[in-house]
Amino acid sequence: MKIGIDLGGSHIAVGLTESNGNILSKKEVQILKEDEKNITDIIENYICTSVAEITEFNNVEEIGIAIPGTIGTSKVVKSVNLGLEDYDIVKELNKKINLPIKIKNDAKCAAIAENTYGSLKQYSNSVFLTLGTGIGGAVFFNNKLLSPDEVPGFEFGHMVIKQNGRLCKCGKRGCFEQYGSMRVFKERIIEELQLDPKIDGEELLKIVERKKNNTAIIDIIDEYTTDLSVGISNLINIFEPHAIGIGGSFVYFDHIFLPLLKDKLLNGNLLFNKREDIIINTATLGNDAGMIGATLI
Ligand SMILES: [Zn+2]
Repeated sequence: MKIGIDLGGSHIAVGLTESNGNILSKKEVQILKEDEKNITDIIENYICTSVAEITEFNNVEEIGIAIPGTIGTSKVVKSVNLGLEDYDIVKELNKKINLPIKIKNDAKCAAIAENTYGSLKQYSNSVFLTLGTGIGGAVFFNNKLLSPDEVPGFEFGHMVIKQNGRLCKCGKRGCFEQYGSMRVFKERIIEELQLDPKIDGEELLKIVERKKNNTAIIDIIDEYTTDLSVGISNLINIFEPHAIGIGGSFVYFDHIFLPLLKDKLLNGNLLFNKREDIIINTATLGNDAGMIGATLI
């Protein structure tokens, strides 16, 4: 058995999993705004306590941790979401936990889980995209995650799709993330309909469904799926995957976006090698993908 940990920007989830990816038990705690100043203490204390509780009654072989940001082999190089930089998390945890600990970027962990047990299980060559606040990604070739040595790589969100376009938080202009992330789509709907910026995703989806004949909303959906098709077509032309998996909050809007996205990809003069069809599957493991994937790194 293994322990998978999902260290999100707002919560820490710890789960015990079997070798087939089945989660036997899990627990989680919220990270509050006031926790930010002693975030490393909160992380270390919660993980050490949870691991001690689990290992008292179970034979655990190793621990994997999914972390947002630029994650090295043993260190958090930089995690903007958690406010961490150059944090030697494995060394700190190993002071109290006598088990092998591996870490990896959370989007990569989710992709590995989807490739092994979820939406991409049947395909050996695939591309996985997380469309949420930003855009994360991963590529599998012969079922192996492609990965450079020093940095996670495959920053699909920061490929430029519009020269001199919108300013990205990475400092460049025209990044895919500034057009294809769900955050951008949601912000445009909120602005158009003058909604409360704090509206949750579920409520927003209901409003979009209700207003699906409104021309302004049709235009926003059309523009969003066009921008998405440009970014995804670049990935198809480079990697020629058998299938594409998409996770993140995009999943809840898939019935609205997917038919348009597929049509634009197939008929929009974007693909170098013409295709009869394109397989796009939405993620099936939901919020557990990061935790399950952490046990597979
Ligand atoms: Zn960028």
